[in-house]
Amino acid sequence: MATISENLQQLHQRLTSACKAANRPVQSVTLLAVSKTFAAAAVREAHAAGERRFGENYVQEGLDKIEQLADLRSQLEWHLIGPLQSNKTRAVAEAFDWVHSVDRLKIAQRLAEQRPAWLPPLQVCLQVNISGESSKSGCSVAELPALARAVAALPRLKLRGLMAIPEPAADFEAQRQPHRALARLMAELNSTQDLALDTLSMGMSADLEAAIAEGATLVRVGTAIFGGR
Ligand SMILES: *Cc1c(COP(=O)(O)O)cnc(C)c1O
Repeated sequence: MATISENLQQLHQRLTSACKAANRPVQSVTLLAVSKTFAAAAVREAHAAGERRFGENYVQEGLDKIEQLADLRSQLEWHLIGPLQSNKTRAVAEAFDWVHSVDRLKIAQRLAEQRPAWLPPLQVCLQVNISGESSKSGCSVAELPALARAVAALPRLKLRGLMAIPEPAADFEAQRQPHRALARLMAELNSTQDLALDTLSMGMSADLEAAIAEGATLVRVGTAIFGGR
């Protein structure tokens, strides 16, 4: 079995090729290593191999890992990418650097109230239900403009961009469509609302090439680094 460091080497080659194919500089795409379900030791290994940004889906699991890796805290950036309930916002506001899964105003308001004054603003992306499935989390495309306006006005938060988890699609062209739609939404918000959103959080192990082709600035990759879950 390949080691985490070998997987990372391969993945960085994949990212380089995808950027080349899209005519984009490699530095324009940030890698978020999704460590959910893997132990703190795996994060330590990825950190030793040069990674600095880690994504967690489950709040409690993320908090535990952040604590277990307290010695590396100043070198790491922790991103919450999974669903966030209102009874967990305080712990998240105190421990994480980013939240990608804000999909309603109430959650954003609580994060803004609870983000400690001694920490930098919490970096926030709005999760959009781009495939339009009722079962999935994320705000609807129709709700997005008002939500973005309201969240951008909150203190202690910095609205950075949009995040989506599109439905799996079979081929490259089909994979590109939802990513293109998310990129358009961000461009629209920037032009109509005078926002300066700079983060398109999209693309995972199976579709990162399509996401990069459509302008992803941050890809969230788990399986290709840490193995199957
Ligand atoms: C698990 C997860 C990922 C990573 O998915 P892989 O297919 O393992 O790369 C990315 N984003 C979110 C929101 C996830 O839950």
